Amino acid sequence: MAERLTGHTELIGLMAYPIRHSSSPAMHNEAFAYLGLDYAYLAFEVDNSTLEDAVKGLRALKLVGSNVSMPNKTVVGQYLDHLSPAAELCGAVNTITNDNGVLTGHITDGIGFMQALKDYDIDPIGKKMTIAGAGGAATAIEIQAALDGVKEISIFNIHDKFWDNAVETVRKINEKTDCKAALYDLDDKEQLRKEIEDSYMLVNATGMGMKPLEGQTWLPDTSYLRPDLICCDTVYAPLETKFLSMAREVGCKRQNGLGMMLFQGAAAFKLWTGRDMPIEHMKEVLNIKYGD
Ligand code: NAD
Repeated sequence: MAERLTGHTELIGLMAYPIRHSSSPAMHNEAFAYLGLDYAYLAFEVDNSTLEDAVKGLRALKLVGSNVSMPNKTVVGQYLDHLSPAAELCGAVNTITNDNGVLTGHITDGIGFMQALKDYDIDPIGKKMTIAGAGGAATAIEIQAALDGVKEISIFNIHDKFWDNAVETVRKINEKTDCKAALYDLDDKEQLRKEIEDSYMLVNATGMGMKPLEGQTWLPDTSYLRPDLICCDTVYAPLETKFLSMAREVGCKRQNGLGMMLFQGAAAFKLWTGRDMPIEHMKEVLNIKYGD
């Protein structure tokens, strides 16, 4: 490390709270070292109360950029100069680039999800996706899927604080893309069955399946699934959620959230460095297995 970090080393940050558990620093620093790039990636405990100062600091210290995670994703946009089209549509930012003091907000979560599908020979373009969720991850996936050419998206969510967000997402997708989107109540299980029936893939983008909702799913039973339905989860801890274990029982092709995590990082890496993240090396070193 003493040899690697010099007076020339460029810094990339991660601004979130809590953040000490994040695997992003290990991922990016490993990729920098592997490719011999003179960057370092560090996590900073930043919440909404210190976010504006942190962005000013990023500008003043000429950081190459930063990742942004909860609780800052939907708040940081106001402190930046530009937003990418997807970040604008999502109303959220997870990556900042610094182009000589001009800060642009991007969202790579949806790109990461779509790229992970491609990496595992799953191709939803021109097909129908049913997805549960209306929070940050779900919105990024829904918007990117629509931008990339998924033909139809049926979104399910419970009537909680995220419902209005889903109404907005559906409106934006229908207005601004060629994709046809609709929103349904996740408690309407007959509608859920109907939408899954002619879907190519089914996605969990809710917090169900991870702590504190570990071992739970909104899918009532395996009769909703069929062997040729692709089942994907955004959750990666645990690697196999209740939803994915039900999909395994039925023999569905499955993917957990590790692929999305890896490829959202790879998309940010490319924005900062102009280089492709060494994906196969990262999978090996970080023991990333996201398919069956
Ligand atoms: P969020 O808080 O923005 O959204 C939470 C979502 O879960 C909402 O749709 C909410 O309605 C739903 N939900 C919460 N409790 C529920 C319940 N009891 N029943 C049904 N639905 C419920 O969170 P987020 O950032 O969008 O994260 C959602 C999931 O995506 C999490 O599991 C997270 O781990 C995962 N995620 C993965 C990645 C990745 O790279 N793989 C990135 C971001 C998030």
